[in-house]
Amino acid sequence: MTLYYWLSMLPVLSLLALYLFWQHRTQRISEAARLQAIESGLAEPASLHPVIDRNKCIGCKSCVYICPQQLGHRVLGIYHGKAELLEAANCIGHGACKTVCPVGAITLVFGTANRGVDIPQVDDNFETNVPGIYIAGELGGMGLIRNAIEQGKKATQALARKLPKSSRHDYQVVIVGAGPAGIAATLQAKELGLKYLTIDQDSLGGTVFKYPRGKIVMTQPVELPLVGKMHFEETSKEELLEFWQQTEAKSGIKIHYGELVADISALDPGYAIASSGGTYSTDTVLLAIGRRGTPRKLGVPGEDQSKVVYQLTDPEQYVGQQVLIVGGGDSALEAALAIAEAGGAVSVSYRSDTFSRAKAKNRERIEAFAEAGKLKLYLSSNVTSISPQEVLLEQKGEAIKIANEAVIVSAGGILPTGFLRQMGIEVDTRYGTA
Ligand SMILES: Cc1cc2nc3c(=O)[nH]c(=O)nc-3n(C[C@H](O)[C@H](O)[C@H](O)COP(=O)(O)OP(=O)(O)OC[C@H]3O[C@@H](n4cnc5c(N)ncnc54)[C@H](O)[C@@H]3O)c2cc1C
Repeated sequence: MTLYYWLSMLPVLSLLALYLFWQHRTQRISEAARLQAIESGLAEPASLHPVIDRNKCIGCKSCVYICPQQLGHRVLGIYHGKAELLEAANCIGHGACKTVCPVGAITLVFGTANRGVDIPQVDDNFETNVPGIYIAGELGGMGLIRNAIEQGKKATQALARKLPKSSRHDYQVVIVGAGPAGIAATLQAKELGLKYLTIDQDSLGGTVFKYPRGKIVMTQPVELPLVGKMHFEETSKEELLEFWQQTEAKSGIKIHYGELVADISALDPGYAIASSGGTYSTDTVLLAIGRRGTPRKLGVPGEDQSKVVYQLTDPEQYVGQQVLIVGGGDSALEAALAIAEAGGAVSVSYRSDTFSRAKAKNRERIEAFAEAGKLKLYLSSNVTSISPQEVLLEQKGEAIKIANEAVIVSAGGILPTGFLRQMGIEVDTRYGTA
């Protein structure tokens, strides 16, 4: 072959080399992300997630590019030429990957063979097997803000159609939860002129309120009763919360905050709702309580002060403060590390003598921080009381007093499944099925 031939082939060969280099690099990055996800315990999906049929997948990466959770994460990647769910725990079940796949290689399923996900049974009108009790939003299995809003509206319309002509109860519907589903349901109830009560154990916004500061929220425009279109496609946590606060003020909806619904029992007809704020009777109940449950409390004197919270939202707010983190799981350790890094004076109280429940990476980092004097550990200790400027701990029979300006209790949550079963609602456990 002549020199001229090889010279003429040079651009093609360069392109081929570039392509092979690019393929190799993508493969290496995905392999590293896959291993890291397994090591960090991110390989298990929380709920709805894609399963990719490798025989059908053509490796076009459409799903990788469309996934709204890719920002800051590597939820999907290309592994040996095919799409693969890498950081499964960061998948929020958006389902855009399934829609965009040109060859139908993606199915969305709940749970995995190892980890079942509890999904309550509801009919097309969002009514459970217990007549008069409805479920909307993420509790029903379908995540995402837009879905929650749509379901909140539709469930309220459906229950309104079945209300008795006359009611002898305090309310026609009690809506539990003021996340996206509960807000939409409340607006719908007001628009329909229903006698309603909305209760939330926390504050307006549900899970959105608990996103990290500045989180980018991907959603789709959706029509809200009374207020019209919510136009957002990409926004921030703060902007979305502000929109909802304005919606609440403009529409005049009333929500009881800081009130935990602990029990729902049958009347004949209707239901009695027992909350931390009172007891109410109602014709119907709409559960819009999401899937994240109720944070476990310590049950000690002083826990009701506003300085005690159950989740870290912004480490920067604790700069220069004396903060006690209570708990020894990953969330507790990650909160302690983030605040210590931001410049807070952190102490950690944990009832066991080791952090055996946490990931190795978090354990190693917390021990390194403690050795370097960047935070203080109180293992085998329990909080006994919280006062405005101090916290009392008990450690191996000894009382310890520490100065304190903020407490973050990260002692896990009580999931809603038990609550549902207690009411007689049937719940299916799905192990990797649609
Ligand atoms: C980190 C993260 C990022 C996400 N990012 C996005 C995104 O970008 N785009 C998107 O569309 N979705 C996103 N999601 C999913 C979205 O936040 C949820 O699907 C949505 O908030 C579900 O709304 P919901 O109203 O069903 O439940 P939630 O928002 O969970 O609200 C439930 C409410 O019920 C209350 N409650 C629970 N139990 C009780 C009780 N016993 N008594 C009284 N009140 C109770 C809770 O306090 C809470 O306020 C994300 C989720 C997470 C965790």
